[in-house]
Amino acid sequence: MAFDIEMIKAVYARFPERIAAARKAVGKPLTLTEKILYAHLSEGPASQAYKRGVSYVDFQPDRVAMQDATAQMALLQFMQAGRDKVAVPSTVHCDHLIQAEVGAEKDLSKAKDKNREVYDFLASVSNKYGIGFWKPGAGIIHQVVLENYAFPGGMMIGTDSHTPNAGGLGMIAIGVGGADACDVMAGLAWELKFPKLIGVKLTGKMSGWTSAKDVILKVAGILTVKGGTGAVVEYFGEGARSLSATGKGTICNMGAEIGATTSIFGYDQKSAAYFKGTGREDVATLADSIAEHLTGDPEVYADPASYFDQVIEINLSELEPHVNGPFTPDLAWPISKFGAAVRENGWPAKLDVGLIGSCTNSSYEDISRAASLAQQAVDKKLTAKSEFTITPGSEQVRFTVERDGFLDTFGKMGGVVLANACGPCIGQWARHGAEKQEKNSIITSFNRNFAKRADGNPNTHAFVASPEIVTALAIAGDLTFNPLTDSLTNADGNAVKLDEPTGLELPTKGFAVEDAGYQAPAEDGSKASVVVDPNSDRLQLLDSFKPWEGTDLKGLKLLIKAKGKCTTDHISMAGPWLKYRGHLDNISNNMLIGAVNYFNDSTNRVKNQLSGEYGEVPATQRIYKQHGIGSIVVGDENYGEGSSREHAAMEPRFLGVRAILVKSFARIHETNLKKQGMLALTFANPSDYELIQEDDTIDIIGLTSFAPGKPLQVVLNHKDGSSDTISVNHTYNEGQIEWFKAGSALNLIKAAIVK
Ligand code: SF4
Repeated sequence: MAFDIEMIKAVYARFPERIAAARKAVGKPLTLTEKILYAHLSEGPASQAYKRGVSYVDFQPDRVAMQDATAQMALLQFMQAGRDKVAVPSTVHCDHLIQAEVGAEKDLSKAKDKNREVYDFLASVSNKYGIGFWKPGAGIIHQVVLENYAFPGGMMIGTDSHTPNAGGLGMIAIGVGGADACDVMAGLAWELKFPKLIGVKLTGKMSGWTSAKDVILKVAGILTVKGGTGAVVEYFGEGARSLSATGKGTICNMGAEIGATTSIFGYDQKSAAYFKGTGREDVATLADSIAEHLTGDPEVYADPASYFDQVIEINLSELEPHVNGPFTPDLAWPISKFGAAVRENGWPAKLDVGLIGSCTNSSYEDISRAASLAQQAVDKKLTAKSEFTITPGSEQVRFTVERDGFLDTFGKMGGVVLANACGPCIGQWARHGAEKQEKNSIITSFNRNFAKRADGNPNTHAFVASPEIVTALAIAGDLTFNPLTDSLTNADGNAVKLDEPTGLELPTKGFAVEDAGYQAPAEDGSKASVVVDPNSDRLQLLDSFKPWEGTDLKGLKLLIKAKGKCTTDHISMAGPWLKYRGHLDNISNNMLIGAVNYFNDSTNRVKNQLSGEYGEVPATQRIYKQHGIGSIVVGDENYGEGSSREHAAMEPRFLGVRAILVKSFARIHETNLKKQGMLALTFANPSDYELIQEDDTIDIIGLTSFAPGKPLQVVLNHKDGSSDTISVNHTYNEGQIEWFKAGSALNLIKAAIVK
């Protein structure tokens, strides 16, 4: 599977020197997270200690992974970089665009038809530029990465928020936007604020109904959805070493739900067993050779409070199974208290559907334990009262659990196997009757349970639990059932109890698969072509943005003065617009349609200064563009907060907006604007925001001597003939000013490669 053992050797070869340099720079023993981060500095061995939560640092990731929804724009941008091949091993995974409706085979075939154009494009770009391509049906990005690419001590970025799943095998794996993936594939460094560190000490050993999922459900309850923001969560202790590698993956995966940058476990014997089980004995051998660098220093774990910014301790021997929800993953209930919570809060106790699997919980261990309960249901003459679905995380897992009879067992209790894809987890679920918006309950072994996420129905109460608990509750059909204490009545009218689930971490006969769904790229892609239909409404090749004209920008029309919160969702909405993520022209029709116009408190209604009429924001901007007139967008505080989607910066750039002037920026969006060659400016005096008038024509002065730390001047020419001149700040460094001058960061990379 093109697993790059040479790359791992190269990474490990620099570990001893780099970790020694880091220890010296930091002046004390190191956590595992620090070891891996310092070993991946783009500057080489550390020359200074970076401040957690403060310093911005350039890193050199080893690998990039992309899912099909986000890969489109990442690859369209990469194609412009002028490289023949990706600079680091990269993969594309077709998992998000497959809708669950009746079952794996039919759903997959329908998705292939509907998304053929996008799949063909992703396959052809991958083939040309040396990217591994995982076809639709091959599995979900994070499970496939865990089985094939994750390695201890590595650093990976992925265009999906649950990329941290690979932390279960000791990798620093972080979710990013497509523009970041493009940069790393083009050979650029990747910037991250040096994270804070949260240590989670696991003591004791799990047993019975408790599973790894319950660890993260408990942690989510403690830290809440914001508690991990800007931090890496590092797990350690004897309890950590007792967990299976895939169980650790589940915990790291769901670290995204507490906002953590990523989560990680150290390399141990369970990791080694998983590498051996998945045909990667060579990785285990290499990792064994530098094992002391693949875990935190002993002093750190002996006295964690002195090394982590926050420490949490959980005793696995006492940990109860949990159910979290509804509507938020941090509302954590131990199973013994959950039934009462359902009754007291009036949540629908009747359970309509139980869904197991997804990237979070579809390991061999998960499936075998859930199947042990399904088998009991059959043996004890119980029929599942709820609908029940199984989403395998990969074809390798699916094939193996089918071979071992588990899918058959689920079938006997009425389970339906869905495609190896995201499906209901990302709202790709044609759930019959959801449009009626009835109040109902579902329980999943997925990670997110926000309103409307699974089926679009705001009244679906979605709960999250382990696959074992989901299966037991689906058998009972009742959310108030506690399988640890309660009995069920079987077909003979007898009261029966479910015994504790049992299962295996790894298949005794080993994993097997006939066609894993992997397509290797061409050895020499120079002759390979990329397929994009010029008439497509979903895909569009990008043209390079024009370089700066070398003069001050004069005569810019005010497009919109946005009032209050203006997130990336306000700038580039998701939902129905998702399908245009690969077509810049079409998706630009959502530009700023959610922003509130300061002058009329309306959304998507701005004054066209040429005609005096009011119109939609994108349409008005297109008129300015037709007339060759640049424009400017003015915003409030923390403009561009939310996701890292680059569309929010590319759309205004594409439609001819020249500058965004705000009170303050969300950092990632500010960087995205700079990368696309836009001017990202802030009011030196925030109250100057009030001076902006609806009919202003604006000049930006000082660009011919644009320099780091030097403010620019902005002249506001008002309709009544008066004007105001204000000072505006920027945070461009020398390199970023070159991006602006070249028209975009990509243009600059391209120029460097052509030379
Ligand atoms: Fe994201 Fe769900 Fe797909 Fe996992 S299964 S990658 S959480 S959408």
